[in-house]
Order: sequence, then structure tokens, then C-alpha cells
Amino acid sequence: MSGTEAEDKFVAMVSAQAEVDLRLSDYHPVSELRTPEHMIRRPRFPVIDYHNHLDSQDPGAVLKIMDECGIEKIVNITMRTGDAALDVLKKFRAADKDRFATMGWMDWTGVERDDFVQVTIDRLERLVEHGTCGIKFWKDFGLTVRDAKGQLLRIDDERFAPIFEKAADWNLPVMFHTADPAAFFRPIDAFNERYEELAAHPDWGFSNSPVSKRELLEQRNTVFGRHPRTTFIGAHVGETPEDLAFASAMLDHYPNVHVDMSARTPELGRQPYTARKFFLRFPDRILFGTDLLPEISMYRLHYRFFETADEYFEYPSHASRQGRWNIYGIFLPDDVLRKIYRENALKLF
Ligand SMILES: [Zn+2]
Repeated sequence: MSGTEAEDKFVAMVSAQAEVDLRLSDYHPVSELRTPEHMIRRPRFPVIDYHNHLDSQDPGAVLKIMDECGIEKIVNITMRTGDAALDVLKKFRAADKDRFATMGWMDWTGVERDDFVQVTIDRLERLVEHGTCGIKFWKDFGLTVRDAKGQLLRIDDERFAPIFEKAADWNLPVMFHTADPAAFFRPIDAFNERYEELAAHPDWGFSNSPVSKRELLEQRNTVFGRHPRTTFIGAHVGETPEDLAFASAMLDHYPNVHVDMSARTPELGRQPYTARKFFLRFPDRILFGTDLLPEISMYRLHYRFFETADEYFEYPSHASRQGRWNIYGIFLPDDVLRKIYRENALKLF
């Protein structure tokens, strides 16, 4: 065989490509990787799940799961408002007042009224009297809520400033879920890394939104800066887990802000070196949360992420998954783990 012939075979081999027509939905590759696996049944320290939604759950059934996997307490962020929210609060308080806490949900009913800010403060006061542990502003603030003139409301609209000042007077933490993952602001097409998830939830796509993700975060940060006495929690790593440098700069700039890591283990676990550095740099500012239906296996996957150096394993997720990747553990040291799992949350109650 001449040199040229051998070279040609090699060139042919490394150049070969195939067009396949296997449906993406039918493709379920099984990893052949063999590396150490550690199943963590119980967390090394008691855990507070600071971000969950339990409205429709039976508290007794949830308590059994909590006992089984070392969950001391869950914050139920109710998605109900008015009397329905108080009913939920009472249901969980009656079941176990120490192991459940309820965070209120911003009620936009009547947003077109001139006295809406006062109405909101009165509503919040009622929640506070019943023992709510915080108030959550969802992504509809900034993306869809409109005023009487049909104008999209800005998060940093100064008319709302009294609400955040009142929250400081009451020592009531304010959670912001502002914007969404970066991929949700891109077209739902062949280049979108969360294509299958967005195909399952087309209403999560904001590529046609008149306001960009960056603008929403800037509006939110203006509020963080305007109310230094108020404690804020940026849900989902402040909504920038894909860019931990941005999240770090935000935390450096606003000492009154915490973040929760709920529903973002997939993002954090695919960048284990950067994520580990982030947790070690802000051990007092990050809260454990899940934002997933309480299930034993779901909690155990979180512990595996936080406590082990396991490689390339499945992340905890809702049914439509976040993207076609796996995660790596970040083996946090005990002193950091204790804060993230529990102590940082305790300071906010
Ligand atoms: Zn949530």
C-alpha cells in the first residue's frame, strides 16, 4: 500500500459524517462511563428547602418524605392570593407550624386602580399578621403586568417604592423571580439548548418580548439598590446561573441580596469548577431550594450534587428536563454545606 492510499483511508475515516433521521424524542443514549457513584440517602446536615410550591399537597404525605430525607423545613411559596392564600397558610400551620412556612404571592388584582400601592400594602399587612415569611414577585412583573393605560409595568417604577420600604419595616424578605433562563429569550429553534423543554412549554419562550432579559435584570437591580434596608432574594441564582460572573458582581454590589439555587442544579452542575468557586465565595448568601415536587429521589440527587465528587450523573428536574446534559458534584466542605443547607435560611425567618 502506498503512502497516499493509507492517507486517503485515514482522511476518509475522519471525514465521514451521517445525516440521521432518528427522532430527537426517541433518542435516549445510555452512558457507558464507569466512575464512582455515591447515593446520599440523608444530607450531612438538616436541610431547609427555601423554595417550593406545596399548595395542592397533603402536608402529612410531605412530612413523611421530609423525615425520610432529612428535610427540617419547607417554605411553601403559595401561588394563591387573598383568602385562598390564608387558607393554605393555615392548612400547613395546623399540620406543623415549625416545619412549614408560607411565603405570599404578589397579587396584581386591581393594578389599574389609583390606590393600588396602598391596597397592596394592606394585603401584605394581612399576610404578615398571619405569619407569612416573605413575599414573592414573579416574572410577570416586568414581562406581562400592565397598568391602566396598557403600559408594561417596569420593575423599577418608583410608584412601587413604598411597598419595598414597608417590607423593610416588617423585616419581610422579598423574593424576585425576574426574567428566566437565557435560552428562553432566544428563538425556539435548532440552536436553542433548551429546545425540548420549550417545545413542552411554548409559553415559557420570550424571544418576542419587547423587553430583554438584560433590561429586566437591570430594572430589578435598581430596586435592590434603592432599598438597602430591605432583604431581597433573587430566586434561581438571581436568574443568571449561566453567568456566575454576573451573579457574583450582583452579590458584591448589593449586600442586601441573597440568592436561592432552586431549579438550577442542572445549570450549576454542568459547570462544577465555576459553581464550586461561587459557593465558596458566597457561603452566607446562597439558599438551598428545589422548586420541584417533593420526592425522595429528587432530594437525594441534590445531596449528591452538593456532597460528592461524582461525575456525569442525572440532574433533578421536572418532566420536560432542562437540556441534554448531565452534572458533576461539587463536594462542598462541611462549614459551607451547613450554611447553604440550613443556617442562611434560618436567619431570614
Ligand atoms: Zn418557584
